[in-house]
Amino acid sequence: MISTTVLDLFRHCEGLLEGHFQLSSGLHSGGYLQCARVLQHPEHAATLGAALAQQVAPLEPTVVLSPALGGVVIGHEVARALGVRALFAERRDGGLTLRRGFEITPGERVLIVEDVVTTGGSTRETIDVATAAGGAVVGAAAIIDRGAEPVAFDVPFEALARVPLPTYDSAACPMCAAGGSATKPGSRTA
Ligand code: ZN
Repeated sequence: MISTTVLDLFRHCEGLLEGHFQLSSGLHSGGYLQCARVLQHPEHAATLGAALAQQVAPLEPTVVLSPALGGVVIGHEVARALGVRALFAERRDGGLTLRRGFEITPGERVLIVEDVVTTGGSTRETIDVATAAGGAVVGAAAIIDRGAEPVAFDVPFEALARVPLPTYDSAACPMCAAGGSATKPGSRTA
């Protein structure tokens, strides 16, 4: 699956928004990728999951771990295509924790799967959860890497598409400077 096909799918589902947004990282941007618009269609989620699975298959993961909520659907679809388990970590008491009932066996080959990566903070946090649980993280993957710079992790990283959308600290945001105020399309409760 090539980048332009992924973006066409986002445009088709109205998942590529333009405006003035505050991302979950706190940074401002003129563009926002709303994965929910695409992933609400199970057939699109399955298509993206299968494509990402094909890309990460050489890493030979035996389990997928995603951060809730954004990573759950795509993580599930990647795991289905790979024929492995799909786990997620949830935010509890301020930290990211493996969901009760899920286990990672010592040394198990874990692949971290997210929807969109901007700064990589959430992926790094999820890598830490897997490592703390005894897993061996073999890689990370996302549908889209939207960082201005290609994101770097200590493990191999794969994305279906790279869509660099500039981000700004609110103090340096040209749209704020022009008198606008940012909205939060990506808030986890929206
Ligand atoms: Zn702004």
